[in-house]
Amino acid sequence: MKATYRAMQATRPGILELVERETPTPGNGEVLIKVEACGVCGADAADIEKAPPPAQSPRVPGHEVIGRIVALGASTPSIWKLGQRVGVGRLGGHCNACVQCRQGRFQLCLNQPVVGSTCDGGYAEMMLARSTGLVAIPDELSSEEAAPILCAGVATFNALKKCGAQAGDLVAILGIGGLGHMALQYARHMGFEVVAIGRGRDIAADALALGAHVYIDNRGEDAAARLKAVGGAQAIVTMIDHADTVSALLGGLAPEGRLVVLNPSKSPLQVSAGLLVGGQRGILGSITGTPYDNEKALNFSVLVNVRPRIEVMPLEQADEAYRKLKTGNVKFRMVLIVDNASNAH
Ligand SMILES: [Zn+2]
Ligand SMILES: [Zn+2]
Repeated sequence: MKATYRAMQATRPGILELVERETPTPGNGEVLIKVEACGVCGADAADIEKAPPPAQSPRVPGHEVIGRIVALGASTPSIWKLGQRVGVGRLGGHCNACVQCRQGRFQLCLNQPVVGSTCDGGYAEMMLARSTGLVAIPDELSSEEAAPILCAGVATFNALKKCGAQAGDLVAILGIGGLGHMALQYARHMGFEVVAIGRGRDIAADALALGAHVYIDNRGEDAAARLKAVGGAQAIVTMIDHADTVSALLGGLAPEGRLVVLNPSKSPLQVSAGLLVGGQRGILGSITGTPYDNEKALNFSVLVNVRPRIEVMPLEQADEAYRKLKTGNVKFRMVLIVDNASNAH
């Protein structure tokens, strides 16, 4: 194995630079992964713009990581093998000891690293990972196709499973970007009547091709009124961080309908308590999911042929990818590719 590896780290807030780091040895319960691909998620921008952690190396972002295990630390379970292709999502591996873990709610573990934020992520040739955070990757998916499923995919897949709607029910997807384009495909294959809600007409044809039965342009139309006119949506799953737009759509929920929130917008949602009480409507937050949830999302993607639409860029251009993300010039998802020839060991 090479003594060093290359990584793109956030040396200063908002600046990614290529650095050479010493290849680490995995500790107890950890593995070392040789990275093949890493998706670029909206949440990476916040990780890149944070001040570097005091008295530690600057953070390497990236939490849609696919690679191969090249070293196993002590006490790693035998299900993980050298050479195996694995993934790591936003949740970096549960502790198995806290009260949430003891209840089996691993996604809510109180001692879980947040990949790319509180521990180093996958904008690098190598990455250390807790074995409890590992996801097995099916052979049918290439590494660049699988990467976005580890955050954008599992987040929307789980939200749709929790949303309370059943086959044939109307489900609205608000925000047709990286997450939304996965949500539309999953929702269609789960048997819902799918309404895509986006801004402008440019995305309409893509939304319909991805699985929406109907597209509503939220800039030109009153989406809540449109939903209400057909009896309301049994669920609205929102990916956007614009609290006013989300709040305005609440009137489009059917009785007993649920709003599922995936994006932690900074400003608060405005909710009419009467709307909640009168129709027994609910609002639910949803975090990405456990490694097991991630394997379900990957396997479902293979089963029904759901794939992310991606643009790929080399790892060395991560700074350019981040700038593209910031200016809203990414249609669906970007994935950084690591040149394996240059980090062969
Ligand atoms: Zn993400
Ligand atoms: Zn725990």
